[in-house]
Amino acid sequence: MPSPLRRFLLAGLLGALSSLPVAASPHATNGIPPDDALILLKDGNRRFVSGTAIHFQQDAKRRRETANNGQKPFAIILTCADSRVPPELLFDQGIGSLFVIRVAGNVAQTDEVATIEYGVGHLGSRLIVVLGHTKCGAVTAVVEGAHVGPNLAQLVKPIVPAVARAQEQNPGVSGGPLVAAAILANVDQAIADLQQLSPDLAGAIAHGQARVVGALYDIESGAVEFLEGSPAPVGHAAPSSGHTAPPSASHGAAPRPEAHAAPAAHPAPVSTPAHH
Ligand SMILES: [Zn+2]
Repeated sequence: MPSPLRRFLLAGLLGALSSLPVAASPHATNGIPPDDALILLKDGNRRFVSGTAIHFQQDAKRRRETANNGQKPFAIILTCADSRVPPELLFDQGIGSLFVIRVAGNVAQTDEVATIEYGVGHLGSRLIVVLGHTKCGAVTAVVEGAHVGPNLAQLVKPIVPAVARAQEQNPGVSGGPLVAAAILANVDQAIADLQQLSPDLAGAIAHGQARVVGALYDIESGAVEFLEGSPAPVGHAAPSSGHTAPPSASHGAAPRPEAHAAPAAHPAPVSTPAHH
């Protein structure tokens, strides 16, 4: 029985071997390199924003094809359950292209992480997008210290350290601007959590078999801003320190090149337009 890491590496290798140029066939997207997958998402969002969405692969033919041949999603999207954040629409994608996990506040805990592991390890997706969005109710609830029931309290727990970090980095800031900073910090948090909770994913990311990128969806303009170049990856060998550890801390793991450029690139202090 191959180790999980070997399975990931094998999946990545097979994916690379089976991948075709994106332009050659829009269907042959399984295992496509993460950078190419990112281009597909950016192009789709551009169409969505400009009102030129093509709504492709949403017909009976595609339904049949994916039912008979299985799913080969080219990207994994972890995003919020917010009804204003529909991934297939905002990336102008069809059936079988996106492996989507939606949960209030786009948190990455056991169920979400396991689902991502399935997408990478079994379906061959190599790009993981953690997509936060403006005016997120879950993050806002934590910022405002809203009283919630026990289930919701458990759900938003991972958001708490993100809000604390946003407060720390933006002293004196409150209200909407603080929520905006916390939303970005919460994307970082999920990226850190998914690596901390899954040595398989952390290993796949560290070895370049998978890539994780944060993004912010503007529910008004429809635009997705990809937060590339940060945050710093979390060492997958890091001791479990719960949700109180800043995700940007290196935990002494060997830093990747990006880690040097990453510290606190976002969430930036709200006075610094670092991500716009
Ligand atoms: Zn939300």
